[in-house]
Amino acid sequence: MTAQIIDGNPIAERLRDQIARDAQAFQAQHGYPPGLGVVLVGDDPASQMYVRMKRRACERVGVASYAHLLPSDASQDDVESAVRQLNDDPKVHGILVQLPLPKHLDEERVLQNIRVEKDADGAHPLNIGRLAMKGRTPLFLPATPAGIMVILRDLGVELSGANAVVIGRSNIVGMPVALLLMEANATVTICHSRTKNLQDYLAQADVVIAAVGRPNYVNGAWLKPGCTVIDVGTNKVDDPSSEKGYRYVGDVDLESAREVVGAITQVPGGVGPLTITMLIQQTVKAAFNQVGGSAVQ
Ligand code: NAP
Repeated sequence: MTAQIIDGNPIAERLRDQIARDAQAFQAQHGYPPGLGVVLVGDDPASQMYVRMKRRACERVGVASYAHLLPSDASQDDVESAVRQLNDDPKVHGILVQLPLPKHLDEERVLQNIRVEKDADGAHPLNIGRLAMKGRTPLFLPATPAGIMVILRDLGVELSGANAVVIGRSNIVGMPVALLLMEANATVTICHSRTKNLQDYLAQADVVIAAVGRPNYVNGAWLKPGCTVIDVGTNKVDDPSSEKGYRYVGDVDLESAREVVGAITQVPGGVGPLTITMLIQQTVKAAFNQVGGSAVQ
């Protein structure tokens, strides 16, 4: 079997067309665009790159972006005050704090400061708490898990009753995507660094979400034939043959997996395009929620 390799870009493009129409409708109704405020602390090159990509993606769909760039030694007060300024700014409807923050900062306190109506990245403890509770609806979802669910729906994967294995339990990917899969009636197993016999769980899995952060860690031989794999991992590896000297690979070894699985997301360009798109989509939703008016039907 040769797997379907899933490109997230066309799926994201379709959503962005709708987002651009909605942003235009907001602008027409209110005379200014929906706005995303970003707080970036420090000079981590990957974080800076993600923030640049988000700004460009906003520009393309007609959403304004406002960045607070703080030095790596910024104090807790500095960061919380940047968040509060964005909370108070009527032009800003969604707020993203780029994670991870430098170690000396208390991430939870920073995220708690985001006004929950502006929590377009679904990072506020109240939104995460609602996600975890049966019958409660968060205002916003964490962007990467929301993007993963969009891909699974686009593929037409039947989640109800499916065995889903999530590898990783981070606050931004593993834990929330496991909750979303459970909400979609999958039977969910969460594996992590202390899990014994990971391969036994994977052998039963109809759907695998790999969010480990280890290049090519999961071998195709561990996977159930025909399963669907969402490879979230984005791992930089040396590649002297490429112009830059490096490239990105996923957590799943594509070469061995492609002969076994039914479908697998590519890295890069699988989940990544959806992550940014979901953030901007939720910013536009936040704008209409806060100011009123209606999106394009
Ligand atoms: P993280 O916070 O480092 O979490 C990694 C998780 O993997 C942890 O729960 C850890 O377990 C688990 N783990 C580590 N080694 C393991 C092993 N040998 N077997 C099973 N589980 C193991 O990472 P993250 O923020 O979730 O990100 C994961 C990956 O996704 C990274 O490559 C990141 O760059 C990528 N990512 C991509 C996007 C995107 O939009 N494409 C967005 C976010 C993240 P413990 O909890 O026991 O330590």
